[in-house]
Amino acid sequence: MDFKAKIRVIKDFPQPGIRFKDITTLLKDGQAYQAAIDQLASFAESKGADLVVGPEARGFVIGAPIAYKLGKGFVPVRKSGKLPAEAVQAEYDLEYGKDALAIHKDAIVKGQKVLVADDLLATGGTISTTINLVEQLGGEVVGCVFLIELTYLNGREKLGSHYDVYSLVQY
Ligand code: IMP
Repeated sequence: MDFKAKIRVIKDFPQPGIRFKDITTLLKDGQAYQAAIDQLASFAESKGADLVVGPEARGFVIGAPIAYKLGKGFVPVRKSGKLPAEAVQAEYDLEYGKDALAIHKDAIVKGQKVLVADDLLATGGTISTTINLVEQLGGEVVGCVFLIELTYLNGREKLGSHYDVYSLVQY
């Protein structure tokens, strides 16, 4: 499947100079969406993941169907102030902007093998913060999956060789 052909690139969004990768064109194509999730799920299965964690909001669109496919649980990582129960929090930088992410304190059992999923790896800020939250709770990150990796932003290097990163499309 040529996933790249299904992704729309929008020039100068959300600000001049950014070439935004719009995955909505892939998501609305049932065969492409299913094939993408299937491929990411087989990677997750090969890593022995027993839980999937995804950051708000597009991480839900990728992480939740992987969890469903594997018959594993899904844990949402949310912007700060959104989770109803006791949570741990960490600050993060986006490719454009700054925010904080949070996870429920009881979301992960110590030693659980966690797959982290998001739509896109850019600078790696979002995913390293998500990993940080998982590890604060004693989870072991066995892999990170993305539809898209912007290789020129070196997110993979930022994460370090300790983490197994898998992406379907590279720019
Ligand atoms: P990072 O934290 O710099 O790796 O940025 C990744 C996060 O920013 C992901 O959660 C993406 O949803 C979002 N993001 C950054 N650039 C794009 C883009 O071109 N298309 C869609 N999402 C993007």
